Amino acid sequence: MTTMDSGKDWLPPLLATWRAQRAWILEQQVAIARTAAPTGNESERAALLQQDWRDCGHAVTRDGAGNVMARVTPARPISHSAPVVCLAHLDTVFRADEPLVVLQDGTRTYCPGIGDNGRGLAAMSVLARVLQQPEVRARLQRPIELVLTVGEEGEGNLRGATQWFDDAAARGLTPVAAVAIDGPGDCTIVHHAVGSRRWRITVTGVGGHSWANATTPNPVHAAGVCIAAIARLADASRPSGVVAVTRMHGGEHLTGIPAQAWLDVDMRSLDPARLRTLSDEVERIVVRAVRDASQLQPAQALRYAITVLGDRPAGMIDAHHPLVLAAAAATRAVGRVPQSASASTDANVPLSRGIPAIAIGAGGTGSGAHTAHEWYDDTDSDIGLERVIRTVVALGTAERLAR
Ligand SMILES: [Zn+2]
Repeated sequence: MTTMDSGKDWLPPLLATWRAQRAWILEQQVAIARTAAPTGNESERAALLQQDWRDCGHAVTRDGAGNVMARVTPARPISHSAPVVCLAHLDTVFRADEPLVVLQDGTRTYCPGIGDNGRGLAAMSVLARVLQQPEVRARLQRPIELVLTVGEEGEGNLRGATQWFDDAAARGLTPVAAVAIDGPGDCTIVHHAVGSRRWRITVTGVGGHSWANATTPNPVHAAGVCIAAIARLADASRPSGVVAVTRMHGGEHLTGIPAQAWLDVDMRSLDPARLRTLSDEVERIVVRAVRDASQLQPAQALRYAITVLGDRPAGMIDAHHPLVLAAAAATRAVGRVPQSASASTDANVPLSRGIPAIAIGAGGTGSGAHTAHEWYDDTDSDIGLERVIRTVVALGTAERLAR
């Protein structure tokens, strides 16, 4: 980023306006958190935010996945058509019947989803307004795409972000940078995306009587051999790869050779190639265990099946990438010390495709994400929000963004 508008004259008044809006922002955040949005059923919350963006003058669209999208275009003709993309996920890990009760205790607000991603979504409401300001649009060098994504959490597998980047690629559009706005926080910059694969491995056989059919291949024994080997693999593969058997089940009767056993395996790495070799190794372990357990009775050989429960791509950019530097500069500008971090967010999708991406928090602090006891504290929340605005405005107004 060689030339960047420092915004020294025009940005502070704009930021001051938003500092004065803290109560309104928190109100938005609470309204968002109180609108259920379980992964796969985000439409009510999507409609709420769609209306909010329309109210501030955006032409809002939805895609096939259910993402909510608005595009901010520069006020004057520009030569850069590649946009900056800001993403925030709509969905929560909570089921539709989870009570979304708000409890206020001083500066703390308790509510499932209040921080993750109520805070990020509230920041998107602010961004939608900031980017409409004439003083910002007049300085934009490239379009800014605002995207509220579906299916970020758990078994959503980053479905919304994947759809958006697929569609962009189909239109020949390669964003110059992507910024995922996720949860509270004002100093960490996630530029390492943890990739993960989650498998259910099911081993099946014919089953039988444990005395009369004593040589019948036993799926639980084979599963046990798998677990022991995966445990050794886990010890051998840290820290570049992490693997764990996280759930297991098998057998039907106390006195029968089981007909079925299954285990769930969670594999993670920052390196896509490492994730592939790790999953290849796990599959080899299963093949070997099933073959060995079937040796005495080849006619009754065990079978295995692998069901993919999760697949999130890995990727990273280094700490000196211009995008990370821009976020770090914004962090310092608000008086915080930038910290590198790794996580699994919507930024995984662009990072895995070679598009520079980061994830940052949207201010305030919080804890208990993904639990019913989640809380958010609004103390100094303007600092993190200001960091988000500074980062996005810097990316939108920089004359050059290439490395
Ligand atoms: Zn989140």
